Amino acid sequence: MTKEEFEKDWAVGAKMTIEQVQEYGMTAVPCTCGEDGCKGWQMVADLSEVVEEANRRLFEHLADPNRGPLKLEIYKGSRATGDS
Ligand SMILES: [Zn+2]
Repeated sequence: MTKEEFEKDWAVGAKMTIEQVQEYGMTAVPCTCGEDGCKGWQMVADLSEVVEEANRRLFEHLADPNRGPLKLEIYKGSRATGDS
């Protein structure tokens, strides 16, 4: 089973589209648990990219002398689709 196949299966189980899975920062990584029924992959939250984006926006905000209230919409548009 490929990473893409596993992510697609996971999306179906979560009643999400594959685009939503990516948008919300979930990604499959190789699993070495060795348990019965393990498909060789596990889904993890890829927080690094989300945190990076949030940090970038925070520092932009802090650098703006005319800043208004901080608005963080870190999930929206923070991810390109299709890369791995
Ligand atoms: Zn496993």
